[in-house]
Amino acid sequence: MTDYSGILKELVDGSWREPDTGKQYTIGIKDIAIRASLDGAESELIGKLHPDQAITIVSDPFTHDALGGRIYRALKAGGHKVKEYVWEKPRCSEEGVETIRRDTADCDVRIAVGSGTINDTVKYACFLDDREYSVFATSPMNAFTTGTASVSFNGFKRSITCKGAKGVYFDLSVISQCPPRLVSAAFADVICRTTAQVDWLMSHLLFDTRYAQTPYTLLSYDEPGMIDGADQLLSGDIEVLGMLTRISAIMGLGTIFTETTHSGSMAEHMISHYIDMFAGDLHPGTSHGEQVGVATITMSQLHNQVLTNPQPPLMRATRVDRDDMNDRFGPDLADSMMQETAKKALDDKKADQLNQRFANEWETLRHQLMKVMLPYETLHGSMQRAGCQLSASDLDLDADFYREAVTGARFIRDRFSMLDIVDDSTGLANFTKTMPV
Ligand SMILES: [Zn+2]
Repeated sequence: MTDYSGILKELVDGSWREPDTGKQYTIGIKDIAIRASLDGAESELIGKLHPDQAITIVSDPFTHDALGGRIYRALKAGGHKVKEYVWEKPRCSEEGVETIRRDTADCDVRIAVGSGTINDTVKYACFLDDREYSVFATSPMNAFTTGTASVSFNGFKRSITCKGAKGVYFDLSVISQCPPRLVSAAFADVICRTTAQVDWLMSHLLFDTRYAQTPYTLLSYDEPGMIDGADQLLSGDIEVLGMLTRISAIMGLGTIFTETTHSGSMAEHMISHYIDMFAGDLHPGTSHGEQVGVATITMSQLHNQVLTNPQPPLMRATRVDRDDMNDRFGPDLADSMMQETAKKALDDKKADQLNQRFANEWETLRHQLMKVMLPYETLHGSMQRAGCQLSASDLDLDADFYREAVTGARFIRDRFSMLDIVDDSTGLANFTKTMPV
């Protein structure tokens, strides 16, 4: 049995040191296991973290068959006080969270078995009840190691800060059986490291906003291997799947190290959020990771276009058309978008300062950014080999709406990205006219 958890073990026990600074970090999670198989180890793992506690295992019919039933039998055989709850129609909404709180009230610990919906519902329910939770993953995702849950309130998804899991367990032989679409989406949602890092670093270099190297140092251990083995992911290669799973876990932990989601979520995520917020009937039902993947390709094209040009962009003050915003988003949303945009908008003076800076330092700046960027061909090629969607048409998303998402995404958050640079120079509308969709 291969153990992929070396670095994660050091992180969990607090002995890992950032190579550049020697700094040590502690994370709240007490155990992370990523192994070829956890069959037979369940009782011992849970016994270490949750001894003598009343446990309820929460799964849905699919994850129960894939893993939940096995864990229940193992814990029962191991002498744990354990019940199981198979949730027929899981939904991570206010009502869903209340269902879990009510139906599994008589336990000390909940153990989630599943992915997004089950994990986030149990995470939030345990936070509200002040109870511990641990999770067995059935697909690779970064949500298992974050301290946030994505919960839908009256149809609107909100990311809520709550307590993370105590134990996070990945049985790679189970994960290798999950729908291939989930593996491709997980790959897309971590390979976006490249565009998120360029945007976040650029914001730091230009405006001295906060930036942290630690998440990227951790991700750099496995990223080359994962990219090399991208074509073996869908055939269930345990070694490459282990790399993807570890990278996903570390992406999640990055939000703990930095206390913000910036390290893995910049413009490519804003484009995906825009799609979720405004596509309405045009939404093709694609997942977060799938949309982020396509947006990562778009952002990489934009990064390449700007950064390979020896001529710096010529910046001008940010123009926001309030009437157009009102028409498109309604007055309330337009208000909040105006506020987000105002935090990073350029006035004439700031635009001049930026132009001055570019005139003196463009060569240095663009090379600093290109150093952390995956070459476009590497990004595109690896995503193709991992079975990811590569364009709006692959997503089955209307091409005009996708162009609108790329031009509108900059307004939904205060995060400064290449969308801002391009829109406040040559204009994003010019880019979207020619970008592949
Ligand atoms: Zn994401």
